Amino acid sequence: MDLTLADFVLFVLVGTFALVPFLAVVSRTLHARAEKRSLANRVICRLCLHAFEQTSHAKTVDCPICGALNDRGRSCRLG
Ligand SMILES: [Zn+2]
Repeated sequence: MDLTLADFVLFVLVGTFALVPFLAVVSRTLHARAEKRSLANRVICRLCLHAFEQTSHAKTVDCPICGALNDRGRSCRLG
């Protein structure tokens, strides 16, 4: 089959319109996954509300600012 310029342009346009939603979904999925992972490691101090990352598997962590002991499993959501 001979590909004319109009056909080529049409293919590129259709391919682009098909690719953009696909890339958007992939990007959103990767972003949500990274956010969830970083949120799982985030600890908010119950005393001074300082947020910090904790990658160890200990059940309790010490706040690097005030030294208060915080539970890891229960994320403090102001209540
Ligand atoms: Zn603290």
